[in-house]
Formats: sequence, C-alpha cells, structure tokens
Amino acid sequence: MEKVTVDTMVGVLDKRMHRQLKQYLDICARCAICKDACHQYVGTGDFKYLPARRAELIRQVYKKYFTKTGQFVPALYEARDPDDNLLQELYESTYGCTGCRRCMYFCPFSIDTAWIAAVAKGMLIAAGHGNEMLGQLADAAIFKGDSPEMFHDVLVEGFKGIEAELRDETGDDTIEVPVDVKGAEMLYVGLAGSHTIKPAARIFHAAGQSWTLSLYEAANYGLFFGDGEKAKKIAKRFIDEAVELGVKEVVITECGHAYRVAKIFYESWAGEKLPFKVSHILDVIDRFMAEGRLELKPGAIAEPITYHDPCQVGRNGGLYEAPRRIVTAIAADFRDLTPNRAEQWCCGGGGGLVALTDMNDMRLKSGAKKVEQIRATGATVIASPCENCRLQMEDLVNEYDLDLKVMAVMDLVVEAMD
Ligand code: SF4
Ligand code: SF4
Repeated sequence: MEKVTVDTMVGVLDKRMHRQLKQYLDICARCAICKDACHQYVGTGDFKYLPARRAELIRQVYKKYFTKTGQFVPALYEARDPDDNLLQELYESTYGCTGCRRCMYFCPFSIDTAWIAAVAKGMLIAAGHGNEMLGQLADAAIFKGDSPEMFHDVLVEGFKGIEAELRDETGDDTIEVPVDVKGAEMLYVGLAGSHTIKPAARIFHAAGQSWTLSLYEAANYGLFFGDGEKAKKIAKRFIDEAVELGVKEVVITECGHAYRVAKIFYESWAGEKLPFKVSHILDVIDRFMAEGRLELKPGAIAEPITYHDPCQVGRNGGLYEAPRRIVTAIAADFRDLTPNRAEQWCCGGGGGLVALTDMNDMRLKSGAKKVEQIRATGATVIASPCENCRLQMEDLVNEYDLDLKVMAVMDLVVEAMD
C-alpha cells in the first residue's frame, strides 16, 4: 500500500482519537464475551465478524502509530501497518456491522465496537475504499437538499396524488396531506413512497393534529456510509425546513437510524440546541392514546402478534414501552420476543445492509437468531417500527420459510381505527 494512503488513514485515526476511543483500544481483555452477543458471528461463525476482531484491526494500527512499544517492537505488541489484506478485512467487518451495539451491552468494559467501526469507515473512505453504493445514495440526498427548486413542484404534486388516493380509499374528503404549512405544530418526516405517509395522515387526521409533511425523506445514507459531514447535511435538510416553518415538534417516521440521527446525534454534530422537540411517531401515537384523541378497538388484531425492538429505536434510542403500549392495546394475543428490550437480538438488516447486495449471504445467515426468537413465540404477525428491520424480516420470511406477516406499527393502528 502506498505511504500516502497509510498516512491518510493514520491521519483520520489521529483526528478521531480522544480519551474514550483510546480507552476502548487499550482495555479489551479478549474475554470474547462479545462473540455470543453478535448475531453475525453467531449466524456465520466467521472470525471476521467477531466484535473484538473488528476492533482489533484498528487496534493494531493504533499500536503501531500511537504507542511507543508498538512503534519500536511491533511484532511483540501486535502492531501493524495498514496493508491491502487489512483493508479488505476491515471493509467487510466494518460495512458488515449493523451498529446494533448488542456487543457493547454485554461487554464487561462496555467497549463500543460500533463506534470503532464508525471510525474505521472514516479511515476506509480516506483510503478510497468506502462503500460506493452508500456514498452515491448519500450524495443524491445531499443534491436534493442543495437544489430544492428542482424538486419542489414535482414532490408537492406527488403528495397531492397521495392525498387524492387517501380520500378515495377512506371516502373522507376532508383528509389532507399538507405540505409547506407555516405555523403547523408538527413537521412529520416520512420515507420515500406513500407507505409511511398514508397511515400517518390518517392518524393525524383522526387525532385532529395540526401537521405538515416534510419535503425530505428521513433515511440517512451518510450515516451508513460513515461520513459525518454528509450525514449532518442530509439531516439538516429537514431541520432547516422545521426552523423555516416554525414547528414545535419534528416527528420521525418508523425508521430506526433516522430517529437516532435526529433525536440523539444532530445537536452534537451541529453544536447547537434545536428550537423544537424531536419525537418518534410511536411516541406521538402513544400520547394521542393517553390524551383520548385516538379511538382504537381493543383486540382488533386477532392473530398472535409479537414486536421486534429495532436496535436504533430500542437499545440505542431508549424507546421500549410506547410501542408495546400501542401494540398491546390493539392485540388480542401479544407474545413478546425473548430476550427483548435492551437485550433484543438485532434482526441483521441495519447499518444499510439491506442495500448492499454483496453482503446478502451473511445478512440472511445473521438473521438466524431472530428467526429462532420468532418461531419460539408462535406469532404469525411481527410489528417493528423500522423500515430496514421490516425489509430484513421480509427476506427472512422467504429464506427460512416462515408463516409470518411483517407490519409497521402505524399500519396496525390504522387497522384498529377502521
Ligand atoms: S467482550 Fe469486550 S473486553 Fe471482552 S473481548 Fe469483547 S470487546 Fe474485548
Ligand atoms: S454492533 Fe452489532 S453487528 Fe456490530 S459487532 Fe457489535 S453486535 Fe456485531
């Protein structure tokens, strides 16, 4: 590998180095407890997916360039220069990581392997080995934000089409998909397509909520790609829109990583406090129910149903009970997965993996634990408030021949409203 590439990678590591990362790199006891926590290692048995091994690749470079012992006696202290082999393994283990942080939860030292993987992505990008597909998707989203005038009218026309369909489907001519409404209380940020817009519009309408729809989608490929600047720019599109419209609350649709970006990361990325509250749509529905603004039929969902905590909503987002209150209010037979909440198994679809065809085989094998959990409940419906989880679980249904319907929680709520 050329010296300039090595220097660039080491430069990124240097820039991202701080006490917390240094501690993660210094203290791993190699106890291997994390191996039983990672769905990818458990599902494939492949050493490169063992969490501590993923971190070890960065640790070897760290020892070579940031410790005196590694600098002078590299062979003795497992210090290593980045080379082509390291780059290839780093690419597979890093872009393979879903960022679920289940390994961190079980690690006795709480070593955040997903964080180390995020630093590794920065090093790969600097070396020209970032994932191309994720980079292109991130750039396309940024382009849309940089040129709103090119897209505005087409988008608004599309939203009006969705509104017309909704009116046809419900027979209610007063239902709206409002856009660009200054002074609305909430800005709802959906995903591309109508499937996250229609149920939200029906729920907001039923609750009598003042709202407006974002022109931008919540998904953030900059985060998956591993470029913090790109990720910030993508989120900034709807953050600026919310400021411009003067809303009191930004509501993120059923999308795990987008919720974590808006709720947890954005303020520290931007170095400023947001002038509005950020909520997940299920928090809002739970609030509507508590306030008596949404009438749902108890027991409306007759089939046995379970709930999957998306890692970025549950373990990394702290939202466990609101979704369960909603599902249990409308289910006749709710059967929780075991384990659940903070110990929930990752389904295997996060981190942008559902978009990466070269990782399909590993992704499907990594869903084995999720399949085992679902089978143990006997449920025929699974609800989950994350698009990537749902796409993954639909693939698991085919791969493992499951008798299972995968649903968004909002769609179940709408079923219980009818
Ligand atoms: S559980 Fe923690 S300390 Fe043990 S090997 Fe894994 S990362 Fe290292
Ligand atoms: S964050 Fe999840 S996918 Fe990544 S190494 Fe840890 S357990 Fe495995």
